[in-house]
Amino acid sequence: MSAIIMSGTQVAQQADAEFQQRIQHLKQRQITPGLAVVLIGDDPASAIYVRNKQRRAQKLGINYQLHHLAASVTQAELLTLIQQLNQDPDVDGVMVQMPVPPQIDATTVMNTIDPDKDVDGFSVVNVGRLWSGESGNFPGTPRGIMRLLAAYQIHLAGQQAVVIGRSNIVGKPMASLLLRANATVTVAHSKTRNLAAIARQADILIVAIGQPEMITAQYVKPGATVIDVGMNHNAQGKLVGDVQFADVQEIAGFITPVPGGVGPMTITGLLDQVITLAEQRAQRDDH
Ligand code: NDP
Repeated sequence: MSAIIMSGTQVAQQADAEFQQRIQHLKQRQITPGLAVVLIGDDPASAIYVRNKQRRAQKLGINYQLHHLAASVTQAELLTLIQQLNQDPDVDGVMVQMPVPPQIDATTVMNTIDPDKDVDGFSVVNVGRLWSGESGNFPGTPRGIMRLLAAYQIHLAGQQAVVIGRSNIVGKPMASLLLRANATVTVAHSKTRNLAAIARQADILIVAIGQPEMITAQYVKPGATVIDVGMNHNAQGKLVGDVQFADVQEIAGFITPVPGGVGPMTITGLLDQVITLAEQRAQRDDH
């Protein structure tokens, strides 16, 4: 029997319908959610990510500002811009598209963004809030994956979840959100021994490693939910995930495709965060 394919494209469309209503509601109160994106230089992949966010945000009526800076921008100039955005009452969320050029220190940049405007949730304040169970801004990809799991009614409490990958943008925040949802979480990485045996224990297997089609059926327990975060180009230049889809589809219960799985949900996670911040602004205005 073949797995149910989890369509991020469809769930993202449903989310947009919900977002439209929330934005409508805010606009009745003279509030338009504002997202400021800072793009540095001319990295083609970053330009595509920024364009995709812009398209979805503007379609929903979010006030989207793009600040495109030269690759030669100094750290001081960048920090001055971030401080201006921190002060701007029309801007609810600020993000700097990674990677940044070598003269810029990414950690300083992330921690200069006001934690309450840090839509990506990469600042140490928001990482602390995430792990201590408080509310805060959390990274878009894991947020989007949680929404996808909920849309397919994947039960999490008490389930075994294995996250392969421990990056700050995907693996670690994913593990934390699953833990908050009462899953029993194992985090694996490149030094993990017996990876396939550990992965096979997972009811929910999240793969974020950047290794084209490494995860085959031998890593998957029959009936498991498999979430493929990877976006890689194979030897033929085709976009593929970290999971060997055709092979794993035969054994998994649920599986995300690449493209059309986690990718659209990442933007959903980001937009949800921006709208939530605007809703918080509306609440503050009430007091
Ligand atoms: P990183 O390179 O920052 O992290 C990769 C992680 O995978 C590391 O923790 C690394 O372990 C681990 N890893 C690498 N190789 C292996 C291996 N052979 N076995 C086990 N673990 C391994 O990547 P990101 O987290 O930023 O991204 C992961 C993938 O997800 C990429 O393909 C990226 O393009 C994609 N991505 C997709 C998004 C989307 O919207 N769909 C959003 C973000 C990322 P160690 O720590 O030991 O080095």
